[in-house]
Amino acid sequence: MSSVAPAGATSAPTLSASGPAPNPWAMALRQLDEAATRLQVDPGVRARLSACQRELTVNFPVRMDDGSLRVFTGYRVQHNLARGPAKGGLRYAQHVSLDEVRALAMWMTWKCALVGLPYGGAKGGVICDPRALTPGELERLTRRFATELAVLVSPEKDIPAPDIGTDGQVMAWFMDTYSMHRGYSQPGVVTGKPVSIGGSEGRLEATGRGVAFCARQAAERRHIPLAGGAVVIQGFGNVGGVAARLLNEIGSRIIAVGDAQGGVYDPDGLDVRALRLYAQEHGGVAGFPSATPISNADLLELECDVLVPAAIEGQITAANAGRLRCKLIAEGANGPTTPDADLILAQRGITVVPDILCNAGGVIVSYFEWVQDLQQLFWAEDEVNVRLRRIMGRSFDAMWERAEASQQTLRQAALDIAVARVAEAINVRGLYP
Ligand code: GLU
Repeated sequence: MSSVAPAGATSAPTLSASGPAPNPWAMALRQLDEAATRLQVDPGVRARLSACQRELTVNFPVRMDDGSLRVFTGYRVQHNLARGPAKGGLRYAQHVSLDEVRALAMWMTWKCALVGLPYGGAKGGVICDPRALTPGELERLTRRFATELAVLVSPEKDIPAPDIGTDGQVMAWFMDTYSMHRGYSQPGVVTGKPVSIGGSEGRLEATGRGVAFCARQAAERRHIPLAGGAVVIQGFGNVGGVAARLLNEIGSRIIAVGDAQGGVYDPDGLDVRALRLYAQEHGGVAGFPSATPISNADLLELECDVLVPAAIEGQITAANAGRLRCKLIAEGANGPTTPDADLILAQRGITVVPDILCNAGGVIVSYFEWVQDLQQLFWAEDEVNVRLRRIMGRSFDAMWERAEASQQTLRQAALDIAVARVAEAINVRGLYP
C-alpha cells in the first residue's frame, strides 16, 4: 500500500540541536495573549479564547496482525466554534500530545479566520508510529478512531483532514466508516479524500502551492529575486515536496532538503524531481547520490534566500534564531518558530511569513472540497487553483498592509486580523443562556 508513505504525508524530522522542544500550547497561548493585549480584547472573550471549547481523549483497542490487542490514545480538540463548524487535520505521530493538539486547534481557528473561511479550529491525533503499522493495522486503527470520534464529527459539526502521518487513504477509511454507520455516503465528513470518492482536484498540492505563492509574494515585496535564489526546505512530504517543486519551476535553486531520516545539500541546487523519486523509493532523502549529507540542525543555518520549515513545530527557537542566514522564512509547518525566536528574527530583519497564512492553502482547498461535496458539483483543477490564489492573495495583502501600517511583524498582523475576527463573532453571537 502506498498510503502514509514518506512522500505522501508530511514527514516529521527529529528535533534539531536547538534544545528541548518548546511546549506548543504555551507558544500558542503566548501568541494569543500578546494579540489580545494589542487589540484590547474584552477579558471575558480573552478567557474564552484561552481555553479550548471541547477536548476529547479516547483510548481504544486495535487488533494487531499477530493477534495481540493494543490500546492506542487519540484526541480531538475543538478550540472555538464561533465562526462555524470545526475544521482541522488528524495527525498520526509518536509525539502527539494533548497540548500539541490544543495548540494546533487554536492555530486552525486563527488560520480559518485570517483567510475568511466559515470555520472554527480543531485538530486531532493518535499517538502511534504509522510507519511501524501494517496497512491492515492502520486501517483498523483509523476505523476504530473514526468510530470513537463520531460523537464530535459530522459534515455539519467537525470536518477532519490529513496532517502529519495521514493521507487520502486514511481519509477514505474514515469517510467509509462514518458512512457505514449512517447508512449512506457522507463525503463531506472529511476533506483531503481521493478524488474518486469526492475529493477535490488540487487538494493534494494545495498546501505546498500556497507556501510557494507566499514565498514569491514576500520575496517580491522584499526585492529578493527567487529566480536563481537559494532555497532550503525542512520536510519533504506533501508540503515541503510540493513547495520545492514549484519554487524550482520558477528557477530557484533548492540547495538543501531534510526529513526525519536526515538531509542532503548541494550548493548548485538539487535535482528536485530525482530527489522526489529517490525519497519515494528509499523512505527519505538521506543517501541521495551526488549530494552532501547534512543534519536538520545544520540545514536550518545554511546561507540562503528562503528557508521553508515544513516539518513540525518548535524548530526555530531562541537557541538557533541568531544563527539563521536566510532573508525570508515561509512557514509550511504549523508553529515552527517560537515566540522568543520571532523577537530575534524581527531584530535581525528576517521576514517571517507566518504559518497561519503560509500553510493555509490546504484548509482553503479543504473548504472548496467540502463545498463541492455538499453541492455534489465538482470543479476543474484550474478553477480550484484560481480561487485558491485569489483568497491567498487577498489575505496576504491584508496582512502585509496591516504590518506596514502599524509597524508590526507579519505574524503580529496576521494574528491581530484573525483574533479580532473571532472576537467579533463571539461578541455578535452573544452569550447563551
Ligand atoms: N492539516 C492541515 C493544516 O494544518 C489541513 C487542515 C484541513 O484541511 O482541514 O492546515
